[in-house]
Amino acid sequence: MRLLLINPWIYDFAAYNYWAEPLGLHYTASFLEHCGAEIDFIDCLTSDENPNPGLKPDGRSKFHRKVINPPSCLNFIVRRGERTYARYGINEEEFISKLRGLERPDAVLVTSIMTYWYPGAFRVIELVRARLPKVPVVLGGIYARLCTRHATGSDADYIFTDTDLSTLPEIIEKLTGKKLPVKANSWNLGNAPFPFRRRERRFFAILTRTGCPYSCTYCACGYLWPGGFARETASVVEEAVDAARLTGIHNIAFYDDALLIDADRHIIPIVEELHARMPDLAFHLPNGIHAGLVTQRIATLFHTAGVKSIRIGLETADETVQRDTGGKTTSGAYRNAVDLLRKAGYRRENIGTYALAGLPGQKPEDVEKTIDLIYEAGGAPLLAYFSPIPHTPLWKTAARSSPLPIEREPLLHNNTVYIRGNPDYGEQAIHALRDRAAELRKQD
Ligand code: SF4
Repeated sequence: MRLLLINPWIYDFAAYNYWAEPLGLHYTASFLEHCGAEIDFIDCLTSDENPNPGLKPDGRSKFHRKVINPPSCLNFIVRRGERTYARYGINEEEFISKLRGLERPDAVLVTSIMTYWYPGAFRVIELVRARLPKVPVVLGGIYARLCTRHATGSDADYIFTDTDLSTLPEIIEKLTGKKLPVKANSWNLGNAPFPFRRRERRFFAILTRTGCPYSCTYCACGYLWPGGFARETASVVEEAVDAARLTGIHNIAFYDDALLIDADRHIIPIVEELHARMPDLAFHLPNGIHAGLVTQRIATLFHTAGVKSIRIGLETADETVQRDTGGKTTSGAYRNAVDLLRKAGYRRENIGTYALAGLPGQKPEDVEKTIDLIYEAGGAPLLAYFSPIPHTPLWKTAARSSPLPIEREPLLHNNTVYIRGNPDYGEQAIHALRDRAAELRKQD
């Protein structure tokens, strides 16, 4: 059985590779390999021929970008006087040439991430269909899980929506009429084979746990990872050390949504042991950590052990909104966390802090106050435009409070788009907030 796994293009107004890796697809690849399949992999976001522009030693980069005509429902988006909808990733010729260069697969598996990036997955499926007629295609990933009914409008033969991969081999066997050599009984983050690693990357992502004990009204974590699962320290350490030795890569991005939960028994021993075994590893935390869980011990350890970049999810300085959206943090907890991190040796630029803009009912003045609070506390404000996500508690309110038909069209979930449906956020207000955050990030 030969399987081709594909990470599709991003279609968006802006995209940056901030330690982005299709980790779910990499787990799927290693699991199916474990079941005896031969695996081929195409990552539409990384070219084998031309490195991504602006590639930094730690793996961050821009993506190759081709401006394209937006779908008609996005025609009203003009940013700074320009239409900037683009396809990010390799060009289609490279994709087709990669497809041609591979042995014919028995099935193709395509992942998806953001709901509003679905055109990338749809285009991959269209190109695969044209070149590999009769080869079954499975579409999975986050968009497929959050917008399952919409995903049935793709040309895929099967929409895979389970978190547990153990049902996937049987589905593939039914679609292909072939048997996988090894029967896999179960799959979870604790017993999963370590994910597939690509040597050409400069970083790799690690997931030490899934789920989150909070239930923020704008977040889909609880829907995507109900219950949650924490891995054993030894397993995470073994994975990271093996991967670093095998690939020579020394930058690790932790993908956890709740990295600091139960830190004394979880992330602290993981980072301590990794640092003791491989002192030249560098760690990055692209997902916001919980401000209220930062302690002096964590701040000091992170700084000495090589945690280079930290992001914190403050989201808003408004205490009522903090409480009403799930109470994951308070302004006081945020100030304390930044204070501890600064005393441990971090600079403002290392402590990127998310300020949400465009939550239903939230005014630009509230966002400005959040940006200012982040700056005054010693962090670097990062503006994050609210993107409505299906199956979150805030979804229905977000749909009701927007003139845009977001329940019909996932393209309108795009953070660049949704905020422009809100009359409080004209272009001028959006740019003023963005410029203010950018200006304050540069200060000492
Ligand atoms: S704390 Fe973070 S991961 Fe947890 S529910 Fe809230 S936003 Fe999601």
